[in-house]
Amino acid sequence: MSIKKKPDTRISLNDLIATSNRVSAVIERVRSTMLAPDARKTSPTFSTNQIATICGLDKAKMDYRLKKGDLPIGKMDAGHRRRFSLEDTRTWAKSVRSKLMRPQNAEAITIAVANFKGGVTKTTTAVTLAQGLSLRGHNVLVIDTDPQGSMTTLFGLLPDVDVSDEQTILSLCYGSEVSIDYAVTPTYWSGIDIVPANLGLYSAEFALPSRQKTEGSFEFWNVLDHGIDTARTKYDVIILDTSPSLSYLTINALLAADGLIMPLPPSTLDFTSSGQFWNLFNELTANLVTNRGKTKSFDFVDVLLARVDANDASSNVVREWITAGYANMVLPVEIPKTALTASASAEFGTVYDTDPATINARTYRRAFDAYERVVELVEGQIQTAWNRQLGEQYGA
Ligand code: ADP
Ligand code: MG
Repeated sequence: MSIKKKPDTRISLNDLIATSNRVSAVIERVRSTMLAPDARKTSPTFSTNQIATICGLDKAKMDYRLKKGDLPIGKMDAGHRRRFSLEDTRTWAKSVRSKLMRPQNAEAITIAVANFKGGVTKTTTAVTLAQGLSLRGHNVLVIDTDPQGSMTTLFGLLPDVDVSDEQTILSLCYGSEVSIDYAVTPTYWSGIDIVPANLGLYSAEFALPSRQKTEGSFEFWNVLDHGIDTARTKYDVIILDTSPSLSYLTINALLAADGLIMPLPPSTLDFTSSGQFWNLFNELTANLVTNRGKTKSFDFVDVLLARVDANDASSNVVREWITAGYANMVLPVEIPKTALTASASAEFGTVYDTDPATINARTYRRAFDAYERVVELVEGQIQTAWNRQLGEQYGA
């Protein structure tokens, strides 16, 4: 009797290499159809009403400014409605909102979006905030400190295809560069530049502690803070997206920041995990800052209720815990859980990239208005932080 050999159904490392290649090919294909014709993202256009809202002008004032002729007048579309490019919209915002822009002697305010957990909408929050602030006239630099490069992807760049190690903050971590300037890349969105990320950034987790051992005065936690010093004089706002861990890179982001935003869905596990985040954060800062006779303070720390599901009864209870725990750090706005933002991400974009004509009007408004409110609140905090800087300069 012959013994039949069972087919080998185990998965070899080569099988996994083949799978990985297949997945990469699918991603490339999806991207080139989503971003047709040239696999590049394009920025949206804006209506007269949208410009009026951004600039806080009523209809009469808007009409007056259009007639005056000192600002872009846009182009008529097929339906004889005026459409403005993103550049035009920003020109309006900078001119009409000139008093709200960064004061001459103030520097960029740096904001880190952070949370231990993945999937709590850190990246979505960081990107929408950058877009909303740039629409209000501010020049924004976004820095992707997550080796997974989700933020990079949302800006239409595929981390492992379009981004080289030298374009990321890696050279800063290795010490071959001291200023982030080498890595700044323009994006499809006028008014936002990016320092992208790719998987190679993982090696920063070895480079930073190794330099700490071998270089006498090296402080691994200050690399990004020093690296963005030049950018602080060029931009109005710097936004850091972080990975879902307290990695060496995340610590750099937190200690470089003037403001922190923690997106937090009202679920039990997300809430308890946020508690662990702060425990670990406090342990770290005790070691790196306080015990070395240094201090660090933030202009603001915001907890943003994110992906709130109106149909989930338990979220009401958790929301109460969050308010009890985080008190006035909780921003007075909630980002609803909407199909819109989930599907927009599948199209490599956010609510600001979504054409309102393509989806349910109420769903769009709910998501859009919530994000606009976040941008408005954060812009207020940024202005307070600028004033604090000026106060310090004048010896207040
Ligand atoms: P993180 O950076 O914390 O891992 P992401 O920003 O990548 O989180 O978001 C995780 C997932 O949730 C993405 O698929 C994103 O499209 C989706 N998402 C973001 N905001 C919302 C929302 N308001 N409602 C539903 N899904 C959302
Ligand atoms: Mg992310």
